[in-house]
Amino acid sequence: MKVSKRAQEVPASATIAVATRAKELKAQGVDVVSFGGGEPDFDTPDYIKDAAVKALKAGKTKYTAAAGVPELRAAIAEKLKRENGLNYTPNQIIVNIGGKHAVYESMQAVLEASDEVILPTPYWVTYPEAVKLAGAVPIVVQTDRANSYKITPQQLEEAITEKTAMLVINSPNNPGGFTYTPEELAGLAKVLEGTKVAVLSDEIYEKLIYGKTKFVSFASLSDDAYSRTLTINGFSKTFAMTGWRMGYTAGPLEVIKAMGRLQSHMTQNPVTFAQDAAIAALGDDGGTVEKMRTEFERRAKYMTQRLNSIEGVQCCEPTGTFYCFPDVSSHYGRTINGAEIGGSMDFARALLEQANVAVVPGLPFGCDGNVRLSFACSLEQITKGLDRIEKWLNQ
Ligand code: PMP
Repeated sequence: MKVSKRAQEVPASATIAVATRAKELKAQGVDVVSFGGGEPDFDTPDYIKDAAVKALKAGKTKYTAAAGVPELRAAIAEKLKRENGLNYTPNQIIVNIGGKHAVYESMQAVLEASDEVILPTPYWVTYPEAVKLAGAVPIVVQTDRANSYKITPQQLEEAITEKTAMLVINSPNNPGGFTYTPEELAGLAKVLEGTKVAVLSDEIYEKLIYGKTKFVSFASLSDDAYSRTLTINGFSKTFAMTGWRMGYTAGPLEVIKAMGRLQSHMTQNPVTFAQDAAIAALGDDGGTVEKMRTEFERRAKYMTQRLNSIEGVQCCEPTGTFYCFPDVSSHYGRTINGAEIGGSMDFARALLEQANVAVVPGLPFGCDGNVRLSFACSLEQITKGLDRIEKWLNQ
């Protein structure tokens, strides 16, 4: 059967090659340390699971309103007000089938063919594909390590053309592990004033922040920022709920309504009993999120310190997420045990084959000088993997 041009143009995730090979090696009995994972290693807390079980037992197994049950939209509105200082009415909120779907659907709702979307590097791999599937054009802006890979107001100003329809901001950032300060975001918001550029603010890692880092929602910066922003968030990272597929978008009523119309034809509603679980998640968590956050923070410190102690590896300490994103490019040009290391794909491949450590190459995130290491695994695994990387690079 013929495959559409649109589908043909979506590449298989460039991160998958390493993951697939890591699985193959594991299946052959090789002891692989995997830093590839993009999900918490913790299980979903019981208070959330219990709410889903209760919902199932109560017969909540049928369709709901496409945009989500009113109780969940109200609970999200309440959360955004309480924690983010954002005033959204429940009908300005749509519950999506994960944050990934929120990104896709919101781009479908606001982008026209040939609109330009500014993506600062490093960017999450899904953004450029979602932009292209909406018929729009990704405009990649290279950032500098010296500025912790954050786009500056000047870089933003230079990237804006009359075709620019959207800027994507992801803070805390996957894969970069950095978080924009409120002042930095305000600087970007100022550049956008007087333009017609919308902001997609992906805030899915907001709770996983470390040290003195302060999280601020882009839409809360000013009335101007509020009116041009789609705030995207989800339950996967904060509540260790990757498999539940729960995310949401908040923004201008006309856009959320349009997303609701799209959603009613694309997916219908988010999973019915998972919506009850999401309501529970937003209630009193009894300190479970903080416990996970503290553990991630401990690992972040350890991993960064170990990476920076390796010759030719430079890593900013993560201020958020569960990723380190070291620059390993000073090893490019080397040949290690017969493998030529020309860039991040070669680096990841050779590291996996020779030292049995899986990392994600930076190339698909727009930063070929780097690789991504997830610390969503035990400290014991982290120690073992870093010992291997150190030994491998030091030969
Ligand atoms: N945004 C970012 C930056 C992410 O890293 C992810 C998950 N990898 C998502 C959105 C989407 O997560 P989910 O679809 O599980 O909610």
